[in-house]
Amino acid sequence: MTSVFSSIVLPKGGRFLRKPDFLKPRPSDESLSTESKRPLDPDELLNAVAEEEGADLRDLNTALGALVDIFPDVQPDVFREMLLSLSDESRLEVVTEHILRNGAQYIQGRYRKKPKDDKDTPARHDALPKDETFRSEKYKRAVKDTLYLEFKSLSHSSIRAVLAEHNYSYALAHPTLQHLASKSWRATITTFFARKRPATSDPDSHPHVEWLPNTAEPLNLLPYLKRTGCSELDQELYRMYIAPVLARQNQERLDSDEAMANEMNEAEAEEADALFDCECCFTAYPFEQISTCDSHAGHFICFRCIKHAANEALYGQGWARNIDLTKSSLRCLAPSVPECQGCIAPELVRRALCTERDGAMNWQKLQERATSEILIKI
Ligand SMILES: [Zn+2]
Ligand SMILES: [Zn+2]
Repeated sequence: MTSVFSSIVLPKGGRFLRKPDFLKPRPSDESLSTESKRPLDPDELLNAVAEEEGADLRDLNTALGALVDIFPDVQPDVFREMLLSLSDESRLEVVTEHILRNGAQYIQGRYRKKPKDDKDTPARHDALPKDETFRSEKYKRAVKDTLYLEFKSLSHSSIRAVLAEHNYSYALAHPTLQHLASKSWRATITTFFARKRPATSDPDSHPHVEWLPNTAEPLNLLPYLKRTGCSELDQELYRMYIAPVLARQNQERLDSDEAMANEMNEAEAEEADALFDCECCFTAYPFEQISTCDSHAGHFICFRCIKHAANEALYGQGWARNIDLTKSSLRCLAPSVPECQGCIAPELVRRALCTERDGAMNWQKLQERATSEILIKI
């Protein structure tokens, strides 16, 4: 009996060199999430990435790194093409010789762009970025599967074309695919009928990010990465989607803890009758938020008034009134008669400013402006 499959024309050798994409099993959501509950260990991940990189790939990347060091203004894809077309024997030397002799023929105008902001300084390029290195087959397959899952509205051939253009780098290909997906008519129809959000770089809707309840904080969901089967891609996805969310949640936790600690401190200080009245705004504050001027009177000035005075000096019209250049610090803000000639110690001004998020920057600006004005006066 003749099988219908016999009519399918196979490539030379009677078999596919590599299994075509449509024959490969798709990673199911269940298999992706089996390991996701276990948090990623950075050390374990680094070891796994090193193991995934075979000896040949390591040699190719070492040669590529050396070529980028020798010719820093040439785009790495020129060297990648040349290295792949040569056998592993002395390929670094052969490529170097070809570039030195007939550089223009191979480079064809593919030079690395100079950063826009420093046109006068000579171009300086960093060492070979990870996205420009040779990637392992495992990484390429994992990136392809991940992007197929993420951009269901795009055809597989479009995704493969974009990947080939970006050296199979997930991070580089993602913005282009996102742009393509937002323009495609298939995406518009899918979004309309399936009432599904289009693919974005937002971890909330990413298919490889799973949100699970946090046992320590029931109100906050914790993001977990669904493993892709390739540690290198796992690492990249973790850096892109999980780490920023964890850092933001950690900052929010620290802010709320600090606010609560301040509230408790104020309540306890009030109970113990240990509040001090600011002699500028006449509000009561605990010891931790009060400073004094260095005059004989020792006026109490609160941190809030110091922050307002420093902001007015920096961004308003109050520089000459609020800053004493002989002491490089803030003048006393107490409205006394005769006017107090004291200053607030710079260390206390720094402490007051640093209670705000961008306070360290304001403190640095204040010091820089004071120093430059003193130098001009000298
Ligand atoms: Zn005050
Ligand atoms: Zn004073």
